[in-house]
Amino acid sequence: MNRVGIYIHIPFCTTRCRYCDFYKVGYTYAREKDFVQAVEKELVCRSCEVQEYIVDSIYIGGGTPSLLSFESLDRILNVVNRCYSINLDDIEISIETNPVDLNRERINFYKFLGINRVSVGVQSFSECELKVLGRRENVANIMRVLEMLLDSEFTVNADFIIGIPGQKKNSIFSTLEVVKKLSPDHLSFYMLEIHKNTEFELLYRDKKLFFPTDEELAENYLLVSEFLESIGYEHYEISNFSKNGKRCRHNLKYWHFLPWLGFGPSAFSYFKEKYFYHPRSLSEYSQNPLAVKKSFPIGKKERTIMKLRTKEGIPVSEVALPWEKVSLLEESGYLTANDRIALTPAGWLLFNELLVYLDLI
Ligand code: SF4
Repeated sequence: MNRVGIYIHIPFCTTRCRYCDFYKVGYTYAREKDFVQAVEKELVCRSCEVQEYIVDSIYIGGGTPSLLSFESLDRILNVVNRCYSINLDDIEISIETNPVDLNRERINFYKFLGINRVSVGVQSFSECELKVLGRRENVANIMRVLEMLLDSEFTVNADFIIGIPGQKKNSIFSTLEVVKKLSPDHLSFYMLEIHKNTEFELLYRDKKLFFPTDEELAENYLLVSEFLESIGYEHYEISNFSKNGKRCRHNLKYWHFLPWLGFGPSAFSYFKEKYFYHPRSLSEYSQNPLAVKKSFPIGKKERTIMKLRTKEGIPVSEVALPWEKVSLLEESGYLTANDRIALTPAGWLLFNELLVYLDLI
């Protein structure tokens, strides 16, 4: 049977982090109720699209899914269970969380619902960096939450950011030492990007914060990669690391163009060789949860770009690249080219530049 993933976007946050451009609105209980009604409707209506498929991953992302009431989360997962084919012995069910929302009761409830992978927005183990980012946590609580999750035998992911204003090599190193001690199964280290219409964009433009230089970023990215590999993590995608084969099954679908359906405002789907997405508006979504903003086919270049994000890269037989340039990049240590072309961490660091050089964008 074919396999498919389900992504559900929970569009609520209680504060706005200074760097974030994900689609979200302020949380109220009334909004949550409207949203749950709409997403239930969408889940029921679209289930007929995948009658021939078995769902092997569910990813509840956001926004801040850990703000959802127990009742709402239960209702959403119930509809998925009722309307889709699921093999409960072989499914990854992930939820993104803000550590400040997690306590023993909520963690037990996630277990009860069958959630088996919890992703925690840590970002840094430096109090000062958390403040700069506009996060509402403190380091002691984040560590306590991670310990509780690991004790409860979830697969645990922790998200971090490289490139925080003021971040130096020694603070990255301190964060990595805490990572080593706690040893979560999976880690994501994202390079900070300055997005339009965020507070960081204004601060960057007005030179009110000191962002790390390109050299510092490069040094920190390679430090993270080397350190984590040295303590047993596999650097399997530009920003992702896993231990003991705990790669994220759901996210692998994005990089390998395996089908998934996205539910909720702003959610993307990839199905039957096409990308499509919902409008970034909760009110529009609540009125018509089946409205699709745009649909476009995926070509060879898009597939190559996504596959180059992964450690496995892409088979030589599947790509037509300028081979002289590929050889030069190989000599310089940016990629390996045997039966597959795969970027090295040094290549990932210059990902966009290399895509331009290889005429992929
Ligand atoms: S980073 Fe996460 S918690 Fe912060 S505003 Fe964005 S979606 Fe909300």
